[in-house]
Amino acid sequence: MKRILIVGAGYAGAVHARLLADAGYKVHVIDKRPHIAGNAYDRVDENGVRLHVYGPHLFHSKNKNVIGWIKQFGDFVPYTHKVRALLPDGQEVPLPINLDTVNAVFGTSFETAEEVQAHLRKVSLPIAEPANAAEYLYANIGKDLTDLFFRPYTKKMWGFDLEDMEAAVVKRIPLRFDRTDTYFADDEIQMMPRDGYVAVFEALFAHPGITVSLNTAFSKDMLADYDFCFNSMPIDEYFGAALGELPYRSLRFHHRTVEGVPEQDWSVTNFTDTGKFTRETAWHVLPHHLVEDTGRHTRTKEEPCDYRDNNMERYYPVKTADGRYVALYEKYKVLAASEPKMQFIGRCGTYQYLDMDQVINQSLISAEKWLAAQKATA
Ligand SMILES: Cc1cc2nc3c(=O)[nH]c(=O)nc-3n(C[C@H](O)[C@H](O)[C@H](O)COP(=O)(O)OP(=O)(O)OC[C@H]3O[C@@H](n4cnc5c(N)ncnc54)[C@H](O)[C@@H]3O)c2cc1C
Repeated sequence: MKRILIVGAGYAGAVHARLLADAGYKVHVIDKRPHIAGNAYDRVDENGVRLHVYGPHLFHSKNKNVIGWIKQFGDFVPYTHKVRALLPDGQEVPLPINLDTVNAVFGTSFETAEEVQAHLRKVSLPIAEPANAAEYLYANIGKDLTDLFFRPYTKKMWGFDLEDMEAAVVKRIPLRFDRTDTYFADDEIQMMPRDGYVAVFEALFAHPGITVSLNTAFSKDMLADYDFCFNSMPIDEYFGAALGELPYRSLRFHHRTVEGVPEQDWSVTNFTDTGKFTRETAWHVLPHHLVEDTGRHTRTKEEPCDYRDNNMERYYPVKTADGRYVALYEKYKVLAASEPKMQFIGRCGTYQYLDMDQVINQSLISAEKWLAAQKATA
């Protein structure tokens, strides 16, 4: 019987743990934090509101296999995510940019997608091959919308100017020409766990082959007791930052209690100003997040910062236009290949920003591949 160590009780660790335990392996999951669920961890606060401790987590995916797999471990309810941007004049307009956003910014009264597209073509700059995020946006939506919705936000979020960012960072933000005011693409399934993410993780770990130890940080001497390790700790940390640090942006969360429980259909408001906050979440808008009616609700603002200024809490890998950190990660990957009994997994193990569905998908593929290789050599 092979004994497996899994570092990290987030999605990457939990999916590997479950597949290996289902295949008959004895799996020990450790996490240095006092809770399971990794960055998807949620709890109910003193206002009776469920909040996601590491920022709002909206489950959305086009991958039916992932949706079907995760639904085995909890009840999920449909949810349509909407975001508004607060403009300097106090208007709250739909984000991603749509027909109504364009009308609010330019004082126009377009009625059709064709009119909006024609207007954007008129204000766009002729840049055939955009070399960075600024050029990509200028070429697609022009200077006014770029400098209002993206320039201050990006500077606050990443600490970089748009010119220093890869176009890929903004390419994944959709652009609408009609009145659609939902955040995610139309072909995505959007859903939220009825009883929160922790309940889903409890179900994932509820297997006689899995034991979970919290408040337990990885150390290399643990490896002697196991035949293989799937590791979702930061790959540079494992190697003592021997080649240099892989930087991350982090977030400080500022919660506030507000009297009353107002009805609104968007949960997240983005700030377009140059202040320190990027966005605010009204948790009660998310389905089943008003767990107890206290007559109050909670709102949480996010203040981006360097991870060194937030207890080394790693949230978003830093992607620069010159790709220097991706290149550094590639060097760590070469080092990692010399560890025959270990595989790095997940967001920090592979230095990628991964949505929940992506990390589940990658983990299902990785665990199945590993199991197939064991069978082949048995
Ligand atoms: C602010 C924010 C908002 C997000 N919003 C969304 C969203 O709306 N929708 C979406 O799909 N995705 C969202 N995500 C992404 C989502 O959080 C990730 O997809 C998911 O957390 C990745 O899972 P993971 O297991 O790779 O990493 P994690 O969830 O980070 O889990 C890794 C675990 O490893 C543990 N660990 C690290 N080092 C050690 C060590 N040395 N010893 C022991 N344990 C260790 C950590 O404590 C952690 O619990 C968001 C992420 C952030 C940061």
